[in-house]
Amino acid sequence: MHYDVIILGGGPSGLFCASNIKNKKVLLLEKNEKFGKKLLVSGGGKCNFTNNDNLKDLITHYGNKKNFVKKALYNYSNIDLLKDIDFEYTITEEGKIFPKSMKSFTVLNWLLKNIEKKKNIIIKTGINILDIKKDNNKEPFIIKTQNAIIKTKILILATGGKSFPALGTKGDGYNFAKKFGHNIIHPKPALTPLIIKDFNLIDLAGTSMIVTLKTNNNMKFEGNLLFTHKGFSGPVVLNASRYLNNGDIIKLSFVPFRDEEEFRNDFFNVLNKNKNELLYETLRKRYKLTKRFISIMFHNLEINNKLKCNALPKKVRNKIINYLYNHTYVIEKLGDFNVAMVTKGGIDTKEINSKTMESKLVKNLYFIGEIIDVDGDTGGYNIQWAFSSAKAAADDISKK
Ligand SMILES: Cc1cc2nc3c(=O)[nH]c(=O)nc-3n(C[C@H](O)[C@H](O)[C@H](O)COP(=O)(O)OP(=O)(O)OC[C@H]3O[C@@H](n4cnc5c(N)ncnc54)[C@H](O)[C@@H]3O)c2cc1C
Repeated sequence: MHYDVIILGGGPSGLFCASNIKNKKVLLLEKNEKFGKKLLVSGGGKCNFTNNDNLKDLITHYGNKKNFVKKALYNYSNIDLLKDIDFEYTITEEGKIFPKSMKSFTVLNWLLKNIEKKKNIIIKTGINILDIKKDNNKEPFIIKTQNAIIKTKILILATGGKSFPALGTKGDGYNFAKKFGHNIIHPKPALTPLIIKDFNLIDLAGTSMIVTLKTNNNMKFEGNLLFTHKGFSGPVVLNASRYLNNGDIIKLSFVPFRDEEEFRNDFFNVLNKNKNELLYETLRKRYKLTKRFISIMFHNLEINNKLKCNALPKKVRNKIINYLYNHTYVIEKLGDFNVAMVTKGGIDTKEINSKTMESKLVKNLYFIGEIIDVDGDTGGYNIQWAFSSAKAAADDISKK
């Protein structure tokens, strides 16, 4: 069997790439019995497939990979994607874009329909790749499966990262790439919850609030934090997790002030104005803290519920300021690959042409989607990357 192009992996990047390749005989092989298993669970089963950002902002959501992703995202942006889809969509207040059906299979069906329309594509599921070889730049790639030996001029690795291995993504593609001499940036879980050492906010589990999170390398994140039984999750934490490691210290501010001094002044003023009021009530009203949050803070700081504002010792005042503005937590562990939404790390971007996604080491070898050392914030940026990188490769291959 001989093909022009073989794509390994039937997630959003592999499927979208296949349908965009023109004038080539394409074979797409997926290891699972079904395509797009991860796409189906994305966005809680609703699939937040892109974001409403303008292009300039869009590229800032990929951390230090901004320059690498730029060409592919400018070549095929969120606007281009929204023109291409054949289903209605909805945009949330934060700019996340979902199918109007709020069902991820709407997106998967669109991808599969696009493939069905093309006569040049063969798709197969349940295929286990045993080996991939290429003797030199002139020879085709030789792919050995459990039943066949298949040859192809062009090979695209779209096998994803290592997150949610139960869905078929165990990092197979990294091993294939290593065989061709590629460097793999150590894959680690990202967009993942934090397990906190000596966590003492268990009673808040299930509740959320707006916070500012600072990392020990001075990065600052603002947004919604969700308390869990073991630590923190929610968008602000998931996004920060892309830059955190086990053992790191984070600082949380539960009150919206620019710096500690500003908060200290405000707190002193409030205490002065409400001398005869209960501290508990004053904190609740002024800083919009929940009763549960204040009760737990009072318990942790050993403050009496009946304490009035004018009876607050200086030492306790400082403890409250510290608790609300600069509370430090030690990360015992980042959530592992079983809970992480994406993988940070993967095929080294230095070895990939950012315009075409072709390997700089091996001619006609391409990488698309999450297998590459590119990860984005929550908000639809990772699936947009899968589509944009797939389109970059498809455009280049169509010209060959
Ligand atoms: C719970 C969860 C929620 C998420 N929600 C969102 C969201 O709302 N928005 C967003 O932008 N991103 C989200 N993501 C991330 C997003 O789903 C991925 O970044 C995206 O699916 C990556 O696409 P991909 O095609 O590169 O890889 P994948 O979707 O991982 O697809 C890779 C495919 O390759 C197959 N494969 C692996 N090895 C082989 C092999 N040896 N041979 C053949 N096939 C193989 C796999 O079975 C898989 O089907 C979420 C991820 C998770 C886990």
